[in-house]
Amino acid sequence: MIEATCHCGAVRITVPRKPRQLTSCNCSICRRYGALWAYYKAKDVSVRSARGATTGYCWGDKSLRFVRCNTCGCVTHWEPVTSQGDSRVGVNARNFEPSALGASRVRRFDGASSWKFLD
Ligand SMILES: [Zn+2]
Repeated sequence: MIEATCHCGAVRITVPRKPRQLTSCNCSICRRYGALWAYYKAKDVSVRSARGATTGYCWGDKSLRFVRCNTCGCVTHWEPVTSQGDSRVGVNARNFEPSALGASRVRRFDGASSWKFLD
């Protein structure tokens, strides 16, 4: 198990393993957040925070919610608004300790246009 936390520690996310691959996406929201996404099955991700500690942001078709900490402002993850059995969650790998990411490959994804990897 490894843990990602926001800067102040109010939001804690545990996942079963280090990410093998990280995605740097250039879509309108990801490029502004500067996030590196690690994808996991929703059932493998545990998010702990106090009630009212986070704010969600939805845009476009409003199928995903981008969650950030109300105290320190760090974007911690995105999750489906309506969860299904096979749902994915994107954990912002910037919130892992750097040592958890040493061997992870970063891929550049063209979410802004072609929806293909650029590398
Ligand atoms: Zn925080």
